Amino acid sequence: MTTLTIPDHLLALDARDPLAHKRGAFHLPRGVVYLDGNSLGALPRGVPERLARAAQTEWGEALIRSWTAGADAGQDWMALPDRVAAKIARLIGARPHEVAVGDSTSVNTFKVLVAALGVAQPGRRVILTDADNFPTDLYVAQGLNALLGGTLELRRVPADDIEAHLTEDVAALLLTQVDYRTGRKLDLEAITAQARAQGIVTVWDLAHSAGAFPVDLSGAGADFAVGCGYKFLNGGPGAPAFLYAAERHHAAAPVAISGWMGHADPFEMARDFTPAPGARRFVAGTPMVLSLSALDEALDVFADVDLDALRAKSLSLTDTFIDLMEPLAARFPLTLVTPREHARRGSQVSYRHPQAREVMTDLIQAGIIGDYRTPDILRFGFTPLYHSHADVWQAARGVQAVLEARA
Ligand SMILES: *Cc1c(COP(=O)(O)O)cnc(C)c1O
Repeated sequence: MTTLTIPDHLLALDARDPLAHKRGAFHLPRGVVYLDGNSLGALPRGVPERLARAAQTEWGEALIRSWTAGADAGQDWMALPDRVAAKIARLIGARPHEVAVGDSTSVNTFKVLVAALGVAQPGRRVILTDADNFPTDLYVAQGLNALLGGTLELRRVPADDIEAHLTEDVAALLLTQVDYRTGRKLDLEAITAQARAQGIVTVWDLAHSAGAFPVDLSGAGADFAVGCGYKFLNGGPGAPAFLYAAERHHAAAPVAISGWMGHADPFEMARDFTPAPGARRFVAGTPMVLSLSALDEALDVFADVDLDALRAKSLSLTDTFIDLMEPLAARFPLTLVTPREHARRGSQVSYRHPQAREVMTDLIQAGIIGDYRTPDILRFGFTPLYHSHADVWQAARGVQAVLEARA
């Protein structure tokens, strides 16, 4: 793969890319085009040093004092979840006290579903969701229903039919904004507005949204949300997840896992749970300091990023990939399943191919790292912070080479 052959119009797009300098903030291995940042974001360069400091200095030297050391300056471990929450809040259109950081997306989905049912209209027992929602969302809803003795109804309908099912018997709507297989993006604003008009509480999974494009939960009037720290936020494998609870629900929403770290004063060691102010009440146990430190550092890469520029670049990258793949889709059994309309596209492009699994194995062998999803999906994630249009070109040429070699 030689850079000399990259088309001029793509080089020109890279030359005027306002985010081009952000690539330097990441460690990207040589000889690889990494198109899986929607599953595990690349390593931000500042993270290893931060992890070393957290381990050697904060843990090794200061030991238990680090829980409170620097509390005046907001540097204490105890406040780390809140500091990270504030950084995520800007990316999702929330206020800092509406975001809680910790646990996994799955656990947070449980917490917000319980919270949502607790503030739902009395008597409503239906959770409406996308039949093809990410498995963990479906499983957590099933588990909650079992816990409640099967008194809920989990109503699963195709995503395209959701709006027709926003009826007055629905308690909560559980949706993932960007479909993990197809990359289809839902209109969060419109669906939230329609749901609210029916008295339905909304729960959004932003796993493939946060850090990929701007989200405006407050503007949309969304009720609850969850999302991942290790995808577009680049917080590292198993990074803590986040949850969002709109301020208007803080007083009434039940805290399903009412642990001591969500208590208003954990070291008062009181016998009864008194929730901390704001979403902090949803932080159940001791903050995962090492992984929070990595996520905290990773989020600093976003600090000066214009989220509209991020979205514009994401669309330019995915447009470019779709265009470059078009002649291949004519020659090989590739079917684009990602919407072409910008408003309906996240930051990934997916194709069906009858041998998708084998094709992706060959691609990864060739240094084009995307992923395969059952049953026949080739998935390519684009990360506007570290991809160039030249990368997109190399990826498409790599796909061409693999398909030609297999033919
Ligand atoms: C990746 C992903 C998750 C991951 O959940 P974890 O608990 O972090 O493993 C949840 N929901 C969606 C939609 C995802 O894409």
